[in-house]
Amino acid sequence: MAPQELRYDGQTVVVTGAGGGLGREYAVFFGSRGASVVVNDLGGSFKGEGKGSQAADKVVDEIRSAGGKAVANYDSVENGDAIIKTAIDNFGRVDVLINNAGILRDVSFKNIKQQDWDLIMAVHLNGAYKCAHAAWPYFRKQKYGRLISTASAAGLFGSFGQTNYSAAKLALVGFTETLAKEGLKYNILCNVIAPIAASRMTETVMPPDVLGKLKPEWIVPLVAVLTHKSSTETGSIYEAGGGHIAKLRWERSKGAFLKQDDTLTPGALAAKWKDVVDFTNAEHPQGPGNALKILETASALP
Ligand code: NAD
Repeated sequence: MAPQELRYDGQTVVVTGAGGGLGREYAVFFGSRGASVVVNDLGGSFKGEGKGSQAADKVVDEIRSAGGKAVANYDSVENGDAIIKTAIDNFGRVDVLINNAGILRDVSFKNIKQQDWDLIMAVHLNGAYKCAHAAWPYFRKQKYGRLISTASAAGLFGSFGQTNYSAAKLALVGFTETLAKEGLKYNILCNVIAPIAASRMTETVMPPDVLGKLKPEWIVPLVAVLTHKSSTETGSIYEAGGGHIAKLRWERSKGAFLKQDDTLTPGALAAKWKDVVDFTNAEHPQGPGNALKILETASALP
C-alpha cells in the first residue's frame, strides 16, 4: 500500500526559526500540504547576532510560488505574542506551533560568560515559553493544538562546551511533559524532538560526508506525524536523524530498600549500592514511584 499523504488543510502552522535549516523544511512541507504557514525568523547569525527580514521572506516566496499560503514574521521568539498575532491577524487561527528557532554560544564552562548563558536561555527556553503561552488560549478554546519543541542530544546526554544549550534543551523536556498533562483534555498534544541534521549549526562540527547523510528534510516526517490530527502521542521524546526515528523513555532500577530505623545510614546504603544501579528488571516509569507501595515494601523489611 502506498504511504498515506498527510494533509493539514484549513489549519495554521507557526514555525519559529523557519528562515533556514530544519524550520525551513517544516514550513515548506506544511505549505505544500494545505496549511497556512507563519514563517518566523529573526534573520540573525547562528550565534544570535544581528537580524533581518530576508531569511523569512525567501521561504515565504518559495511557499507562495509553489501555490501555498504563507506570511513572514521577523520577531524574536522572545516576542511570542507578536508571532502568534501574525497567525491570528492573517489566518484567524493557530493549530500547530513548532518551537524550532535556536542559536549556539558554545564555550567551555570555565570560560562561559553570563551573556552566553542568558542569550541561550532567552531564545531556546523563554522563546519556546512565550510562543506556547501565546498560542495556548487559542488551542484551549478550539480544543485542538499540536506543539513541538526542539530539544537536542546535547540536552539529553550532555555535550562538551554546551552547558548553556544543554540546560535549555533539557528544560524543554520538562516544559513539554507538563504541558502534555495540562493540554490532554483539550486535545492539545505536546512532544519534544531531538533532531540531528545538516544545517549551519552543524556544518562546522561534522565532516561533509556525514552531513550529506543527515538531510534536514528527513526530520520532516516525524514532525508531520506528531502534528497531524490523527496523532494521539503526547508527552514524549523522539530522536530523528539520517532516516532513523526512535522514541526515548525513562528507566528506573528496582533500587535498594533500607530499613526505616536508625540503621538507615550512608554505610547501609553503600552496602546496597549495587541494587541502586542495577537495571535488571528495571521499569519504565510514567511518573514518580508509587509512594504507598514504596512505604509498604520498606516497612516490611525484616
Ligand atoms: P539553523 O541555524 O539553520 O536554524 C535556526 C533558525 O532559527 C535560523 O534561521 C535563525 O535565524 C532562527 N533564529 C535564531 N534565533 C531566533 C530568534 N530569537 N527568533 C526567531 N528566530 C531565530 O539551525 P537548525 O539546525 O535548523 O536548528 C533548528 C533547531 O534544531 C534549533 O532549535 C536547534 O537547537 C535544534 N537542533 C538542531 C540539531 C542539528 O543537528 N541541526 C541538533 C539538535 C537540535
